Amino acid sequence: MGHLDPETEPLDLSVVDARRILSHVQREWPLEACGLLGGIGRRVLAVYPTRNALASPVRYRVHPEDLVRVILDLEARGWALVGIYHSHPHGPPVPSATDIAEAYYPDAVYVIAAPVRGEWRLRAFHIQDGRVREVPLRLRDEADASAPPPGDP
Ligand SMILES: [Zn+2]
Repeated sequence: MGHLDPETEPLDLSVVDARRILSHVQREWPLEACGLLGGIGRRVLAVYPTRNALASPVRYRVHPEDLVRVILDLEARGWALVGIYHSHPHGPPVPSATDIAEAYYPDAVYVIAAPVRGEWRLRAFHIQDGRVREVPLRLRDEADASAPPPGDP
């Protein structure tokens, strides 16, 4: 019918933004870190690091103040919430049972950062109604692909 297949449409992320996510989650280690991805369709145009309101090594919840700040910024730019990222400080790089149960945004891609044999990796998933499908990551190597982040918390 011409609409995107939410399960196979790749997540389009610049290398700069991938590094931004990885540096945020490594900074927060050993706690789980989380953040939001804004853009258009599956193309990420900005990374928004947010506070983990639970400050936990095994759980995350995007801080409600940060959520509001990001949503307002997305609206001002005419962008959508493309994805939600968080880390698994001790792996594995796949959604946990809690992540699956609490995936309230079926239109968003869930990105998980985790160390795999000592090297941090990103993987992306579409989660809906308890069903998980991996979303391919398409890294674009652009010098300046995204707007500057609206400020780290
Ligand atoms: Zn998780």
